[in-house]
Amino acid sequence: MNVRCFTVGQFQVNAWLIEDVVSHATVLIDTGEDDQLATHLEQLNPPPALDAILLTHAHFDHAGGLVPLQRLFPAAVTVLPALERPMFDVLPRQGAMFGMPRFSRPCGRIDREVHEGDRVDINGLQAEFVSTPGHTPGQGCWRIGSHLFVGDTLFAGSVGRTDFPMSDHAQAQRSLSRLLELPGDLIVHPGHGPDTTLAAELATNPYLAHVRRAKGIPEPSDVYGASGRWG
Ligand SMILES: [Zn+2]
Repeated sequence: MNVRCFTVGQFQVNAWLIEDVVSHATVLIDTGEDDQLATHLEQLNPPPALDAILLTHAHFDHAGGLVPLQRLFPAAVTVLPALERPMFDVLPRQGAMFGMPRFSRPCGRIDREVHEGDRVDINGLQAEFVSTPGHTPGQGCWRIGSHLFVGDTLFAGSVGRTDFPMSDHAQAQRSLSRLLELPGDLIVHPGHGPDTTLAAELATNPYLAHVRRAKGIPEPSDVYGASGRWG
């Protein structure tokens, strides 16, 4: 499976183009905030034959580029976490909600909504939806083979913000606990910043102390000495 990252827009969102080398199924995860990603994909040689667009959540920096992508790839099936519908529906005024009215965007078309554990078969490529709400009402992750695309659920050394409108901090904490039950060697592709693994984050991410406590795993400061890795 080929996984290519496109980092786009003012918020440096990572969008992911995934191509199954066997079936040639081609999937895009997240869209960026405008037409920048569509322009990138259009200029690839050869341009991808996109089968599906899977959204991790509906913040404008992840879902705001849907309309130009659907114009370029009208046959691509677009999939939204079902619980994310309220956030998706406010895309036309979401920029204003966040104090940046120029980032309000049209909604685009949703072909399918998914719930926890749903599997989407894209011409032989299997994507499993893992619901991890908290950053937004329906934020989720897509597990494809040994890859886990987590949107703004988890970052290398950090976690998604929960001080936004419609965020829920306690819910995000529970979602992270559930996510860290998945195999530690899954390759984590966050919506911003570098890749990591679940095992690396469980061992060292300063925002996962509640998960370590529940599992009886020592804090990094206990592992790395009295001064502590995190100062
Ligand atoms: Zn977000």
